[in-house]
Amino acid sequence: MRIPNLIDGRITNPIGDKWLDVYAPASGHVYASLAESDSEDVEAAVVAAEKAFPGWSNTTIAERSAILMKIAAAIESNLDLLAEAESKDNGKPITLAMKVDIPRAAENFRFFAHAITQFSSESHESIGLQTINYTLRQSVGIVGCISPWNLPLYLFTWKIAPALAAGNCVIAKPSEITPVTANILGKLCLEAGLPKGVLNIINGSGAYAGQAIISHPKIKAISFTGGTKTGAQIAATAAPLFKKLSLELGGKNPNIIFADCDYDKMLKTTLRSSFSNQGQICLCGSRIFVERSIYNQFKTDLVKAVKSLKVGNPSDSSTDIGALVSLAHKDKVKSYIDLASQEGGAVLCGGESVSVPDLERGYYLSPCVIEVKSNSCRLNQEEIFGPVVTLMPFDSEEEALNLANEVPYGLSASIWTNHLKRSMRMSEKLQSGIVWVNTWMQRDLRTPFGGMKDSGVGREGGLEALRFFTEAKNICINYSE
Ligand code: NAP
Repeated sequence: MRIPNLIDGRITNPIGDKWLDVYAPASGHVYASLAESDSEDVEAAVVAAEKAFPGWSNTTIAERSAILMKIAAAIESNLDLLAEAESKDNGKPITLAMKVDIPRAAENFRFFAHAITQFSSESHESIGLQTINYTLRQSVGIVGCISPWNLPLYLFTWKIAPALAAGNCVIAKPSEITPVTANILGKLCLEAGLPKGVLNIINGSGAYAGQAIISHPKIKAISFTGGTKTGAQIAATAAPLFKKLSLELGGKNPNIIFADCDYDKMLKTTLRSSFSNQGQICLCGSRIFVERSIYNQFKTDLVKAVKSLKVGNPSDSSTDIGALVSLAHKDKVKSYIDLASQEGGAVLCGGESVSVPDLERGYYLSPCVIEVKSNSCRLNQEEIFGPVVTLMPFDSEEEALNLANEVPYGLSASIWTNHLKRSMRMSEKLQSGIVWVNTWMQRDLRTPFGGMKDSGVGREGGLEALRFFTEAKNICINYSE
């Protein structure tokens, strides 16, 4: 299978005719070739987007909204195809792709199809001066959307749906590791009536294709989701070009468990928040802090529950834990597990390579729980982004708060308690963009989404995304004689 680019409404091979291998994580085999694009391909996409922009930015809200709704419907009617492709490309269990990734991709389009109809700007009357100011919210122009491999279509659409709703033309790049569903989506968008040149999909590596998007002077805004190190590199390139930037980066999220919580609900959710998608979700709660009075009980129960998770073929509906996304990533995750003994930690379960019958070269790792001695160890300070969680006890609310905040990251946090005032005090003081109380990853798309500290800059979601993908222009009219 070949995965070319989508430029100006046409499926296009890369100008340099170079191709990259795409691996299926479940089997470890190459199963597709991906266009390895460079600045020439990005230039062609920019030319197409420039041509399309006047028309697209002047479509009525109703027309734009209707096209986005058609794309949402097309994603839904191709649920099986897209879910199978996502599972094969990423290694995630097919059940997860069917229940979460693909439905959410459709929901992203449907949400922004509605949201744009409710997007409004302000006016300010200066009483006594016979002046009125109003704000125009205009499309930015050509925008770049760059997304990672962990939730490929989910995050790709999270960016392009609001960008398109706001009347921009998009140059988008999925991760070279998981490009397949974006390629299918490109075709569905054209079939749904999205005019040519409005969405251009450039494939290839971050270093060439990605960097060419970031540094192109005509691409005026960049929405990026990925690692913190890459985010810093992108910011360094984009800043002197004065681009608008939205950076959604890594996390090292605390999961804080008090003795007074609803224990069964907490345990069930903690299993998900630790290991869903092989722990490869930026919002996973990878540092678990537990009030000392229930620490031993929790440790026993969590380890027992983790041992019952089935690691296996992602396309098997009984699989809980599929394959990690790549061999390089599996090696990175394994290197952290190996660090445990050096840092005085104890591996309580998992962390071993798993051989799945008929898929012996796949990238499987058993889910791992590590008890650590201190929050300052690398296992607790660095993002591992795999099926690994650490455990530590705490004695007081204040100590839990300090442990939670003592990291460079600030994306999300969970608190488990039935003490209302404590949950509100903690929520106020936690340094993170999202706080869940007695739940995890419950997302209402109207809410602002993003991180503090090294987890990012800016907010997406709801009207925040539409604000990001528009320029605010102030018009001041004096109507005195
Ligand atoms: P990554 O290596 O930073 O890559 C993300 C995207 O950026 C990919 O499309 C990548 O392309 C591209 N890229 C890499 N270098 C680039 C450059 N110099 N210029 C432009 N683009 C470049 O991240 P990842 O490993 O795919 O994803 C995992 C990370 O994403 C984790 O840190 C995770 O926490 C974070 N994440 C954050 C959120 C959030 O909402 N905050 C959500 C999901 C994931 P290639 O893949 O082709 O190199």
